[in-house]
Amino acid sequence: MKILITGGAGFIGSHLAEKLLSIGHEVYIIDDLSTGSIRNIDHLRINPKFHFNTNTITSEQLLSSIVDKVDIIYHLAAAVGVQLVVRSPIKTIQTNIHGTEVVLKAAVKENKKVLIASTSEVYGKSKNIPYKEDDNLLIGAPTLGRWSYACSKALDEFLAMAYWKEKKLPVVITRFFNTIGPKQTGQYGMVVPTFIKQALSGKPITVYGDGKQTRCFTYVGDVVNAIIALMEKDKAIGEIFNIGSTEEISIENLAKKIKQLTNSSSEIVHIPYEQAYEQGFEDMRRRIPDISKLSRMLSGIGGFPKHGLDETLKLIIKNFKL
Ligand code: UDP
Repeated sequence: MKILITGGAGFIGSHLAEKLLSIGHEVYIIDDLSTGSIRNIDHLRINPKFHFNTNTITSEQLLSSIVDKVDIIYHLAAAVGVQLVVRSPIKTIQTNIHGTEVVLKAAVKENKKVLIASTSEVYGKSKNIPYKEDDNLLIGAPTLGRWSYACSKALDEFLAMAYWKEKKLPVVITRFFNTIGPKQTGQYGMVVPTFIKQALSGKPITVYGDGKQTRCFTYVGDVVNAIIALMEKDKAIGEIFNIGSTEEISIENLAKKIKQLTNSSSEIVHIPYEQAYEQGFEDMRRRIPDISKLSRMLSGIGGFPKHGLDETLKLIIKNFKL
């Protein structure tokens, strides 16, 4: 099959490209390298079935010409990372909303199946733990930059659902929960590569707030396998899926675990949220997915996720380049 990955030089996109090539597909990627990196895909460039275009997905004509060539699309290009989102809210909103609009418009011409990568951020401040796909979303005030990401991604979901309902465009929507793995950078704020870098270089490990907030970290290889499997299922069309592990850990314990796994002598320090992000910053205390819908859809292809947190952290640390 010929497959387009928007944001294919990014963290998840490059792992997806590698996997799709390894099972014999022809892969086209488009990535403007704003947060993606050539380093992520350099090793794939010798493969004649790999095609790389460094352009923005909002170049409508170019995107449309690539979409015409392929059978299905994984739309992963987006502004990512809470740090980046807080710093550049205009770019976040424009990239996420306009980018998705362009992709859906190009896909609908010849009815190409599209996966829209969304995020657990859309649940916002909801305390309805664990989060279910049909829950209400509780997004904070527009005066706080963080929520522009959740809101833009929620709008992407509405737009994709609208294309499905009105034009019968086959779409699958996935909400990722703190995906981690080798090649992820801490440059845009993600906690695991940030802590590992700090621990390996003997610098203080910076826990924001009281560190009691929890997350469920999910191995990128499991995420990639799940989205490939979902795109093969007709029943997944027009549906939204949480994609995440249910192994909950507090950020404070994550810091201790990483310190121990790296044999680091770094001290663990606490930094107030307003110093780390912006005044009034709001974080989620807990973020856990209900994955019963995903598990039902993936039954028959083995359990999800296959990798636990310890195993994943060890793998990341082994591959970490300072
Ligand atoms: N965090 C932290 N120290 C850092 C980076 C992040 O304590 O250096 C916290 C952050 O405030 C959040 C959690 O780790 O509570 C996960 O942050 P990340 O940006 O990786 O993902 P999020 O879940 O916020 O989208």
